Amino acid sequence: MNIEQIETFRTAVPLIKPFKTALRTVTMAEAVVVKITCDNGLVGWGEAPPTVVITGDSLASIESAIHHVIKPFLENKNLLNYELLFQGLSTILVGNPSAKAAVDMALYDCLSQFCRLPLYQFLGGYKHELETDFTVSVNSAEEMADDAVSYIQSGFNVLKVKVGKDDISVDIERIREIRRRVGLDIKIRLDANQGWTAKDAIRAIRKMEDSDLRIELVEQPVKAADLEGLKQVTDSVDTLIMADESVFTAKQAFQVLKTRSADLINIKLMKAGGIYQAQIINQLAETCGVECMVGSMIETRLGITAAAHFAASKKNITRYDFDAPLMLAKDIVDGGIQYNNRVITFPTAPGLGINGVINEGGVQVG
Ligand SMILES: [Mg+2]
Repeated sequence: MNIEQIETFRTAVPLIKPFKTALRTVTMAEAVVVKITCDNGLVGWGEAPPTVVITGDSLASIESAIHHVIKPFLENKNLLNYELLFQGLSTILVGNPSAKAAVDMALYDCLSQFCRLPLYQFLGGYKHELETDFTVSVNSAEEMADDAVSYIQSGFNVLKVKVGKDDISVDIERIREIRRRVGLDIKIRLDANQGWTAKDAIRAIRKMEDSDLRIELVEQPVKAADLEGLKQVTDSVDTLIMADESVFTAKQAFQVLKTRSADLINIKLMKAGGIYQAQIINQLAETCGVECMVGSMIETRLGITAAAHFAASKKNITRYDFDAPLMLAKDIVDGGIQYNNRVITFPTAPGLGINGVINEGGVQVG
């Protein structure tokens, strides 16, 4: 099964409500979509959003990496020697994890179709459905609590609340208000997106512990490169600490695991460079007794379909942050995973189960 053609096109979908974190505000979900065609007629799909402030990938850099470096390497190669191809994909260019991830998921789509299995079963098939949390963007305490209540009313029972953008006293007030309004049965996890110093984080988290706000975990309290700070926070509080932006590669995961700098790891295909690398990170973490979440950037149902297939395939992945497609004003993907509020189910079709995607001009490419 030789790789015959690698094409890309752009998509753009507005968000229902701006997505606001300590790092950025997003109003439009843009992406480069990858379509890989094999000589036996199988077609595989992938997606890469430009998340410059986190991964460094822009629309232009994703296209350039794919067309100028990855495509010449993959074209006319036999996909059944996939260890060779995934190894090559990780070494043929440094960085560019989102470009690599989009190609990697399209290759896995073709491979699992060849084996006539849905991708999550090709990778292990541990679970058949998943439940996602829903993210509350940073706004005033009242607006955040209103949003939280409306998400609970529409069927979600785990909230991921963005913090770290303002003074910690403001964050604590927001969490207090949300907890007061949603009650004690709802799980609340926080994501500071690198917005705190280690000292801020320790102070804020201890205060929340003393106020019995029952925070399940706190994601990436400190700067991505500040592993000492991350460890200091992890060692100083009872609340679970999750590494997100600190872990892109398997080597970074190994470093965090070796030094016990975090209790949990958030794997994203767009940071890891795809499913092949994400599996290595998960296996390292599992070996060290550290559970993983799989999350995403602001992606359409295409990228999340690949991430969800991966997440469902492994026992050690126990948390899922797949709300991004629910934040979009339009669904541009034909096929793929289905949402029933928080519950995600998989198509029975082999591979990702994607039939086509609508491009930025409004035309479906199939
Ligand atoms: Mg995060």
